[in-house]
Amino acid sequence: MSAPIFDNSYARLPDRFYTKLAPKPVAAPALIALNTDLAGDMGLDAAWLQSDAGVAMLAGNKMPDGAEPLAQVYAGHQFGGWSPQLGDGRANVLGEVVGADGARWDIQLKGSGPTPYSRNGDGRAGLGPVMREYIISEAMHAFGVPTTRALAAVSSGERVQRETGVPGAILTRAARSHIRVGTFQYFAARQDDEAVQILLNHAIARHYPEVAGGDALGFLNAVIDAQADLVARWMGLGFIHGVMNTDNTHVGGLTIDYGPCAFMDAYHPATVFSSIDHAGRYAYQGQPEVLVWNLAQLATSLLPLIDADRDMAVKAAQAALARFGDVYTASWKRVFFAKIGFAVGTDAHVVLVQDLLTRMADNQADFTRVFRAMARGQGAREEFVDPTSFDEWEVKWGGGDAQIMHAANPAIIPRNHRVEEAIAAGMQGDYAPFHRLNQALAQPFEDDPQFADLEAAPSAQQMVRQTFC
Ligand code: AMP
Ligand code: MG
Ligand code: MG
Repeated sequence: MSAPIFDNSYARLPDRFYTKLAPKPVAAPALIALNTDLAGDMGLDAAWLQSDAGVAMLAGNKMPDGAEPLAQVYAGHQFGGWSPQLGDGRANVLGEVVGADGARWDIQLKGSGPTPYSRNGDGRAGLGPVMREYIISEAMHAFGVPTTRALAAVSSGERVQRETGVPGAILTRAARSHIRVGTFQYFAARQDDEAVQILLNHAIARHYPEVAGGDALGFLNAVIDAQADLVARWMGLGFIHGVMNTDNTHVGGLTIDYGPCAFMDAYHPATVFSSIDHAGRYAYQGQPEVLVWNLAQLATSLLPLIDADRDMAVKAAQAALARFGDVYTASWKRVFFAKIGFAVGTDAHVVLVQDLLTRMADNQADFTRVFRAMARGQGAREEFVDPTSFDEWEVKWGGGDAQIMHAANPAIIPRNHRVEEAIAAGMQGDYAPFHRLNQALAQPFEDDPQFADLEAAPSAQQMVRQTFC
């Protein structure tokens, strides 16, 4: 058995990129879940992670040799308002490991205690949100969508104060990096061009080795491509991130920060779940537009590095951002054409998809169930209040490739009521529903009879209308 072998490139960046500090130990750590497949991909020893020394690391109680725990600093626009300093307020990056494929992974503990960036927060995480992030981020990975991962969850044996006292927990998040648009904004707002340049080189090396070192415009274009594709994939799954602040927009094009996010049941483009999103800024249909806004903040941060001549830099950045529409549309078409069973399509297919979505919204049709039923060749019409609305559309459609649809349309998603049910059981110390849900979601495109119950849409009583951070 062996502890991780760390190589901490972020810790070698200048001091002003982070605060080095150790997690705050917890009273009585106990392992809830270890993601052994991911541990393997990361080149980690799963047996060691489950040992006392391993659990002590996952709880933040004892750091193995080579770990250099630090809290990263960043800034960000939160709901459009500028926050000049955010940062890991309840997280520590322990270090980086080099995975089986030679790429670098950050190992980060979330809920690991206060840091200089905690503001008024306690630095901790409740068991519910930790279970939620574990379930949903791993489901996202199983859907084939780029995301931060969940390596482990431990309970802390302590209580944290939220609306009520709740059990505390710590999530071990693994990611190709934790660099956000807000990380660039932090240094750009201080006119620290040197730091922006260093961060740029670091981010290129970690995410876009094909981009030449120091090529700010090349990097901006790569982030635009990756994020446009990411959000198109979210749209294809009915996923609503819920907190698309610039500090939650990852420059590597990963889904990051699973807070009040949710997958919708019945399709409606204006759907919002987040209890803190009063104006619906981050509603389902608004996500691509918000993304462009966030990417514009990245572009602004990079201007001094794009061109020494400000006007030239602005022109180049605007040209890059102007590409977004085409890039996003291309991804959206790929995603939605596949959902109706076509590898390629024309403008007529775009109209067809839009027509279907309008009918689904008018008929409170379940997003996941309609598309999966289409793959199966039966049952879609029953999802509509007025089944003849689907019948009319089906005639225009004329059918698609079942294999393409099966691979594009999951049978099982982490439905809000199922996630809540798993959390409620976990709060009582019963993790069986949590493990079962994770097991089902690991193969979401399979028709597995033992998980058929998880395909059901919520009843009126089961329906979850709001989600919380
Ligand atoms: P989020 O809305 O999750 O993106 O978080 C925004 C900021 O609040 C980040 O800087 C977080 O680190 C910080 N934060 C969130 N929850 C806590 C907490 N319980 N304690 C300290 N900081 C927190
Ligand atoms: Mg965040
Ligand atoms: Mg969060």
